[in-house]
Amino acid sequence: MNIAFLGLGAIGRPMAARIAAAGLTLTVWNRTGERAETFAAEHGSRHALTPADAARDADVVITCLPESHHVYGLLDGPDGLIAGLKRGATLVDCTSGDPATSRKIQAALAPHGVEFIDAPVSGGVSGAEKGTLTVMVGGDANVLDGVRPVLANFSTKVVHCGGVGAGDTVKAVNQAFLAIHLLSAAEGLATLVKEGVDVTAALEVINASSGRSNSSMNLIPERVLTRAFPRTFKLALLEKDIGIAAGLARDNRVPAPVTQLTADLFRVARGELGELADHVEIVKMVEVWAGVEIK
Ligand code: NDP
Repeated sequence: MNIAFLGLGAIGRPMAARIAAAGLTLTVWNRTGERAETFAAEHGSRHALTPADAARDADVVITCLPESHHVYGLLDGPDGLIAGLKRGATLVDCTSGDPATSRKIQAALAPHGVEFIDAPVSGGVSGAEKGTLTVMVGGDANVLDGVRPVLANFSTKVVHCGGVGAGDTVKAVNQAFLAIHLLSAAEGLATLVKEGVDVTAALEVINASSGRSNSSMNLIPERVLTRAFPRTFKLALLEKDIGIAAGLARDNRVPAPVTQLTADLFRVARGELGELADHVEIVKMVEVWAGVEIK
């Protein structure tokens, strides 16, 4: 199988590296070409100068860009994916995308005999490095079965969620949970600090109790209490994700004030903390509001 991987960002790079390490024939493309060139030199793969060139001869093309419209934007034109894709190939979009645009991508590819699945991932950069990501897939189950051996290089769990867009939808809702848990944990812990309670003791209790979450169990101990705040997943991307979740709730007439308010607060944080801030840095906004550091 020939594989093409487009989008060597924070999570795309380690995913592509695992495909290269498995010995599959891999061609990489990245908007900033030097990153693809460096990757290819380090991992013994080929780097392409255009999306069309990357897609040529590929059986499976994987994209991992910030938003679905970025993937849609790569389709057309003489250098676009469609110019290079062969009939029978499959485009696997690992972007945390939006279902409406994923359906537009599928519709654009179908006349060219190219299959499409949306396949967002969860598990973070460390999960990508270890090959333990979870993949949530929307699309035809037979198409998914055809690419499972490729996904297995960077994931340990692949779940078929429904038709095209279902993977994006599950991902958006999961990300809304993450954003809400993180913000509520920051508010609660800031209160505990102001009450003079030891945060480590409080977390020991909470993490053995019903209020625990990935934020309380992992993100806050590892990234906030240490004041490390490593930059692995941009706050801007989580703001995009919870915005998709809030939009889907609205489209479906589901009253979702908690999701909407959290989406708005992440939008404020994105403006204040900037495009490069990590998602966990929203805790710093709560700390400023509360006049206290969680440590
Ligand atoms: P990054 O911002 O680190 O990387 C984005 C990648 O997309 C880069 O390769 C960038 O190229 C490329 N890109 C940006 N804009 C365009 C464009 N207009 N056209 C073509 N290429 C473009 O993002 P991540 O790797 O962190 O995230 C990628 C996707 O994966 C997102 O949807 C995110 O929500 C999701 N995700 C991320 C996780 C994480 O832990 N980081 C975890 C799970 C999902 P260039 O090098 O030129 O800037």
